[in-house]
Order: sequence, then C-alpha cells, then structure tokens
Amino acid sequence: MNVFVIGIGLIGGSLAKDIKMLYPQSKLFGIDSSEMHLKQAFSLNIIDEMASMDDLYKADWVIVAVPVDVAVSLVPEVLDKIPSHALVLEVGSTKAALCKAISKHKNRRNLLATHPIAGTEFSGPKAAHCGLFKGKTNIICEIDKTAFPIQEKALKLFAALEMHIRYMKPKAHDKHIAYVSHLSHISSFMLGKTVIEKEQNERDIFDLAGSGFESTVRLAKSSPAMWTPIFKQNKTNIIGCLEEYIRNLKQFKKLIENDKYDPIFKELESTNKIKEILNGIQFKQ
Ligand code: NAP
Repeated sequence: MNVFVIGIGLIGGSLAKDIKMLYPQSKLFGIDSSEMHLKQAFSLNIIDEMASMDDLYKADWVIVAVPVDVAVSLVPEVLDKIPSHALVLEVGSTKAALCKAISKHKNRRNLLATHPIAGTEFSGPKAAHCGLFKGKTNIICEIDKTAFPIQEKALKLFAALEMHIRYMKPKAHDKHIAYVSHLSHISSFMLGKTVIEKEQNERDIFDLAGSGFESTVRLAKSSPAMWTPIFKQNKTNIIGCLEEYIRNLKQFKKLIENDKYDPIFKELESTNKIKEILNGIQFKQ
C-alpha cells in the first residue's frame, strides 16, 4: 500500500509513524515544501521516500496535513491527481472553507474531511510521535459526501488508532472549536505577550514564574505559520468568542476595582465546575 503524506510535520509525521506500525507492508512517501523537513523525516525513518505531487498517480492513501490556507488550494490539486480508488484524508483545524472549496470537485467522494483533536505546541517531523491520536476525538465532517468504500477504509484506520469519532457539520465544527481551541490559543498568546512586555522592565517576573504560568502559556509556543491562517479562516467565530471573553475580563476587573470579593468568590466557585466537565471528558476517553 502506497501512503503519501503531504506536510510531514507534527500531525502528518505522527500519522505516518502510526500507519507504518499498524500496516508494516505499507510504503510511506513524503511531500513537503520544506526540504529540511523532508530530509529530517527521511533520516528519522518516518518516510521511506521523498516524492512530489506528480507521483500521486500511484497513491492508495493520501494524508494532507498542511496549514489550513494551503489545504484549500492544495486539496483540489490532490483530487485531480489521484487514482479512482484512493482515500484522501485532510486533517486541518478548520473545516468550512475546505469543504466549500472541494464541494463541486469531480473527485469529492475520495476525500474525508477530519479534524483530529490531538496535538502539541511543537511542530515539524522531529515533534512527530507514535500514539499521538490514541484515545483522542476525531471530528468527521460531511461523511455522506465521501464514497462508502473510502469511508470504510478511513474508519478502520481510526479504529486501529483507537480514536473516538464525532460527526459534525463544517460550520458547527468551526463555531465550537473556536471556543475550546482557538480562544485558548489566543488567550495563551496574549498572556505571554503581556508578561514579555512587562518583563522588559521587570527582570524578576520570569524568575518567579511557576508551573501555573508555564502551563497557561504553553500554547503560546505554537507555530504562527499554522495558527495565523486558522484565525483568518475562522475570523467571524473568533471575534464572537473574543467579545464574550473580553466582557468577562472587564466584568472581573470591575469587581476587583469595587472590592466585590463575595461575587468574585462566587464567580471562581461556579467556574470550578470545569473540573467535573473535564473529568467527564477524560472518563469518556
Ligand atoms: P507542522 O508541524 O508545521 O507541519 C506542516 C508541514 O507542512 C510543514 O513541514 C510545512 O513546511 C509543510 N507545508 C507548508 N506548506 C506546504 C505546501 N504548500 N506543500 C507541502 N507542504 C507544506 O504543522 P502540524 O501541527 O502538523 O499541522 C498540520 C495540519 O494539521 C494543519 O492544518 C493544522 O491545522 C492541523 N492540526 C494541527 C494540530 C496541532 O495541534 N498541531 C491538531 C490537529 C490538526 P514549513 O514548515 O516549511 O511551512
């Protein structure tokens, strides 16, 4: 089985590693705009061969794991070049623009639009690792637009990866993911920015930084090349989330200014229920 991975970074590389382990007879081909990443992926044994888009005629599976703005123009080209039996998996963090871009493509039925809710703040093939997807949720959009035999192949892979499947419409996916993923990244980036700006004058801040700061600001290490196109594609939903978040911050500031510590206690206490919600999610996984 010939498996092509376009974008051999964290997600593409991790999928390649798992596929190699699950299907030892498969041959992994890498395509990437970064020659350095391609060479790293080859020397790390993530791919067996470096390839180009012109080789896609021999693909059985194609995984597209590039930034979301690139995917919108690249996926139609992939669909132009694949043989009729090939499965194409796209794994970007937004889904509405991609699904719209390919809606009328003659080979739309070869593609499954997915978003694995798995990742780290690191990028590139060196960050790729086996087991990244185990126990994680995979959101699938518009499954009815994918041919049944192609769906079957993909679902078999996700079962072997031990992923949980959720089905969503692309617009609903983008709306919900704006709250739980995109807003978290923006707030981590802006917390990092606030502290870096202050640190220019006050050297002690980083010396005092504890594990709370480190875990809250972890996402601010994420790749700008991956996140800027996500914020662009999901602009409307993100603006809505930011308005609600800024309203909460302003309200909290007002409570502090006015020494309203009982309402502050109640705010914190009611937000503590996030523990139960997150425990519930872990339990399901
Ligand atoms: P990554 O580690 O940066 O890997 C992406 C790779 O694609 C890089 O090697 C990049 O090269 C390459 N690339 C960029 N433009 C290309 C093009 N035109 N043709 C071929 N290769 C190209 O990013 P990632 O974290 O794996 O993310 C990949 C996709 O998965 C994104 O759509 C992202 O939204 C999605 N995703 C990410 C996560 C996460 O937490 N990281 C989770 C779920 C889904 P350069 O570095 O030279 O640009």
